[in-house]
Amino acid sequence: MKVTINGGHYPGRDSGAVGHTGLQEASVTRDMMARVACYLRAISYEVLEVQENVLSHITDASNEFGADLFVSIHCNAANNADAKGTEAFCVQTGGDSEKLAICIQKQIVSSLGTVDRGVKTGNFYVLRLTDCPAVLVETAFISNKDDEKLLADENSLDQFAAAIARGITDYVNELSTFFMESESITLS
Ligand SMILES: [Zn+2]
Repeated sequence: MKVTINGGHYPGRDSGAVGHTGLQEASVTRDMMARVACYLRAISYEVLEVQENVLSHITDASNEFGADLFVSIHCNAANNADAKGTEAFCVQTGGDSEKLAICIQKQIVSSLGTVDRGVKTGNFYVLRLTDCPAVLVETAFISNKDDEKLLADENSLDQFAAAIARGITDYVNELSTFFMESESITLS
């Protein structure tokens, strides 16, 4: 299984959203990306970690790598400082990308206890231009004090990463169960 993990934004060039304490989205996503990659490599997945300032470099790298799945990690931000929680995006509902998004969303919400804002459609460049099921996850709101605390805490970061990795393996396991079932039907 080949998985691309993209940390959103780029430290030093594009900080992404910035929290009340000065915490930068780009460094949070870099940290989570490395941790997710570590969890997936531990179970023998091939992982491409890619964090680039130019979006086409991300999608080109992932497509050249031949990824089976693509996950982009971000932190959300809103003018309303009360807005908080987790949401996951796919370009369209009804396909594999939505299934992957649901698996990741469930794992994050259940292990971190963040507000479940659900799976949504979003016409993001990195989702549109990748050749495989692709999800962009907004882990939590860096603009909300409670969520920002989670994003600044090393243990929580690790829980986010483990949850994303489990979401990915949940999706892969569901797929393989489906294929095993359809194979046994053909054989009998
Ligand atoms: Zn972002």
